Amino acid sequence: MSLTSRRAFLKSFGLGCAALAVSGSLPLSAATRKPRNILFILADDLGWGDVSCYGSTPGLTPFIDAYAQQGVTFTDAHSPASTCTPTRYAIFTGCYAWRKPGTGIAQGDAALLIDPRLETLPKVMQRSGMVTGAVGKWHLGMGLGPGKTDWNKPISPSANAIGFDYTFLMAATADRTPCVYVEDGKVVNLDPNDPIEVNYQKNYPGEPDGVRDRATLKMDWHHGHNQAVVNGIGRIGYMKGGEKARWVDEDMADIFVEKACAFMEKNREKPFFLYLGTNDIHVPRVPHPRFVGSTPFGPRGDATRQFDDSVRRVIEKLRALGLEKDTLVVISSDNGPMVNDGYMDQAVEKLGDHRPAAHWRGTKYTPFEGGHRVPFIAVWEGQIPAGKRSQALLSLVDLGNTFAALRGVSISKDAMPDSFDVHEALLDPEKPSSRRAIISQDWYMSYREGEWKYIVPRRAGNAPSTKNNPLNGELYHLTGDASETKNVIAEYPERAKALYEALLKAIRDGRTRP
Ligand code: CA
Repeated sequence: MSLTSRRAFLKSFGLGCAALAVSGSLPLSAATRKPRNILFILADDLGWGDVSCYGSTPGLTPFIDAYAQQGVTFTDAHSPASTCTPTRYAIFTGCYAWRKPGTGIAQGDAALLIDPRLETLPKVMQRSGMVTGAVGKWHLGMGLGPGKTDWNKPISPSANAIGFDYTFLMAATADRTPCVYVEDGKVVNLDPNDPIEVNYQKNYPGEPDGVRDRATLKMDWHHGHNQAVVNGIGRIGYMKGGEKARWVDEDMADIFVEKACAFMEKNREKPFFLYLGTNDIHVPRVPHPRFVGSTPFGPRGDATRQFDDSVRRVIEKLRALGLEKDTLVVISSDNGPMVNDGYMDQAVEKLGDHRPAAHWRGTKYTPFEGGHRVPFIAVWEGQIPAGKRSQALLSLVDLGNTFAALRGVSISKDAMPDSFDVHEALLDPEKPSSRRAIISQDWYMSYREGEWKYIVPRRAGNAPSTKNNPLNGELYHLTGDASETKNVIAEYPERAKALYEALLKAIRDGRTRP
């Protein structure tokens, strides 16, 4: 992008984050307050540096920047994994996903990955008297799995089986088949005369193909994403049928916002828990035309603006319903950013000096901070201090136990084995976290305690692993080396071994929380 247009862009939004230092807090009461409603908005692949109030490019997220001033911006919050499925598994079960094999990035036709017998975040919310809803991205499987799920009948078990009273979801991701919405276990707009079939092995005769028909695509693929073609875009996996049920990518954000708002309106008289998982800013990045060109960064930047606007519309609805003082809102992301994630969407070419992971090293898929240190903003208007930052250590796996505590519901000692109750830190930026260490996973595992972070040897294979000599791993001292540039394991072998032993203990014990 030209310097002129970049300056114009920055000028048009001013310095979005300066106001974070503003202090307009209300006095905290000693007693724990109980939010009547909880709204949890989870972006997809949104980087720490993609949210302007975290100090990166101004103007990308103008609503969130202003909204964050109503609450607390956390700077040391982490996704339990650097990819979608394991993070989401951990959020809803309170259990690190590496404890359950088969919870890596799921195919679009995967079976429901969460055992309906498990304690889950939505079940706990139900038990506390809330109506529970899930809208948007799922990516935790549904039905019985490849070749066994009939998409033309009620899907069982559906996502509702883990504790949601209402669900309106895409099965997996926008880049995976089936490219349809599923509401309470039923494909939306399904025509019985045009049944849907899905597989991940081979295309159906006569169906378009992302390799053969590449010249027809409205967004070309860079790697993968070249199997089924839906809405002119290549996908991972194949499908046929269901023409009337297929989504239009450009409308997806609006549809999720509308469903989320409708859920809140319908349940305005009752306590509710709503999970809104946006597709933005995951690939394919195909925002509505009104956002095209809204940033100089191409579809990736425009999708970020669309995400910001989705948050705006949902929060404005909350306020219009008069529920903002009754509702704890948490906004975060499921993992770090990825610039080129498989489509020719000019994300690399137009990136300029925007740094999606800010000063953190790494991206989605990696064990470095850029892979799992995520934006995390908590707002409860009039109830928690405004305009504050907190350095409390949090993991998204903590939400289950934390929301349970806030709603006054206990969970059994054996349930949610990795979910810490961090509600005090969530409500009060002056309070430290009850959590001292975090484990993150991508292809490899890392263990961080205080300012020291250990990464297991990255030659052990494609699975969270502790194989090989621990001293072949990496050790970073985040104080003074936040960007993880200097592996100091040769200088501090005993510290590395201690962290490695702590990781082994966490695995062996089957739990990490008190
Ligand atoms: Ca993701």
